[in-house]
Amino acid sequence: MAAENRVTVIGAGLAGSEAAWQIARRGIKVRLFEQKPEKRSPAHKSDGFAELVCSNSLRAADIHSAVGLLKQEMRELDSLVMRAADATRVPAGGALAVDREAFSAYITETLEQHENIEGVRGEVTSLPDGGIAIVAPGPLVEGALAQAIGELAEGFLSFFDAAAPIVTAESIDMDKVYFASRYGKGGGDDYLNCPMDREQYHSFWEALTTAETAELHGFEDDKVFEGCMPVETMARRGVDTLRFGPMKPVGLTMPDGTKPYAVVQLRREDKEGRLYNIVGFQTHLKFGEQRRVLRMIPGLENAEFARYGVMHKNAFVNGPKVLNRYYECKNRPGLYLAGQITGVEGYVESAASGLLAALCAVCDVLGQPRPDFSRDTAMGALAGYVSGYAGADFQPMNITYGLINTVKAKSKSDRKRMVAERALAEVRRIAAGLPGA
Ligand SMILES: Cc1cc2nc3c(=O)[nH]c(=O)nc-3n(C[C@H](O)[C@H](O)[C@H](O)COP(=O)(O)OP(=O)(O)OC[C@H]3O[C@@H](n4cnc5c(N)ncnc54)[C@H](O)[C@@H]3O)c2cc1C
Repeated sequence: MAAENRVTVIGAGLAGSEAAWQIARRGIKVRLFEQKPEKRSPAHKSDGFAELVCSNSLRAADIHSAVGLLKQEMRELDSLVMRAADATRVPAGGALAVDREAFSAYITETLEQHENIEGVRGEVTSLPDGGIAIVAPGPLVEGALAQAIGELAEGFLSFFDAAAPIVTAESIDMDKVYFASRYGKGGGDDYLNCPMDREQYHSFWEALTTAETAELHGFEDDKVFEGCMPVETMARRGVDTLRFGPMKPVGLTMPDGTKPYAVVQLRREDKEGRLYNIVGFQTHLKFGEQRRVLRMIPGLENAEFARYGVMHKNAFVNGPKVLNRYYECKNRPGLYLAGQITGVEGYVESAASGLLAALCAVCDVLGQPRPDFSRDTAMGALAGYVSGYAGADFQPMNITYGLINTVKAKSKSDRKRMVAERALAEVRRIAAGLPGA
């Protein structure tokens, strides 16, 4: 066993919380540092761990989507993030969405009560000098710690990311909206739909594309991650672009059988249905402009905004240059990075990277070989992308089937089923051999 039988984890977000849990539940002591409530990024609002800063969705639930498979692999490894998500799930059609406060509370309580975890509140301003550590301060890291990581990683890369506004349910005019999930998939009351006719859509598009955006130093449209593009940026691409994107009307026929020209969907944020997220409406308009333009949406004329859309810088290291496939810094053995800062993209992927780094850290402490997740698994494929991308323009990436080794099959659905079965068999084999299994 190594001299210092304790692992340091910096940042109790999605990645850091998962990492701390994995280490602690396998019998190793953890010191978990979190800067909240002393300091918060512009996107973090609560004091809890594993705060979901934007959408409350952990995306597709079905294992025949790559993120669904990744989640199932994490369940096989007893992921705390997946335990919390399954326990605090809210209806959202084919997606796994959660009550964000209950989700964070579940994780915070579990970690704070764990005998192997010592929680330390306050900002960390340097990297640990030695020992085994997992650094997971998220994409909004700043100040001295950001500088230290920048030096270690020979500079950060960055792009911009945006969050969608949330409105209160009681401020929605229920006479103008209707419940429906696209193509009737999932529960009938997961989504509220605000239908527009041609004229309403054109006035709305005009207002959206000419509204004033907030100042953001260094912002360029082409540096926005496609999956989280501000709605006004997308709208500027063409008058019909939104009708093929977040305002797509297909599969959302109105209760009287009419097909709307365009639809804005609102997704329930909490179990009680008090809050609704405007789906796909990440925005960087000035707050007053958000109020003015979004209140043109039928049903939202008197909308109260529980949160306005915001946009932030998003930092990540050059994974292929800096990290190996265990998320360990090549130039600092025993120092792992985890979460979005490694170049994975998304809540689930961030937690998955924390999980894998933690399993390796546990093996380091115990002097055992690290687990080898091959690219037949979603866990291994993600780590393989971050550490092995061969192109010149490394960018954060969600897990996709394109990253996972494929198999020959008669049809696409057969192929996904076979890949999923093979991946889960490998993960179960690895899980059975892990310390504290
Ligand atoms: C504005 C925004 C919106 C996003 N929206 C989505 C979305 O809708 N869906 C999605 O899947 N992904 C989204 N992401 C991407 C990503 O999934 C999240 O950022 C995710 O939370 C990343 O997990 P993480 O663990 O890397 O970082 P975080 O969850 O941000 O956790 C980092 C933690 O470290 C703490 N910390 C930071 N610095 C220090 C320090 N110096 N000392 C001590 N503690 C520190 C922070 O307070 C925080 O608790 C979004 C990102 C941003 C920035």
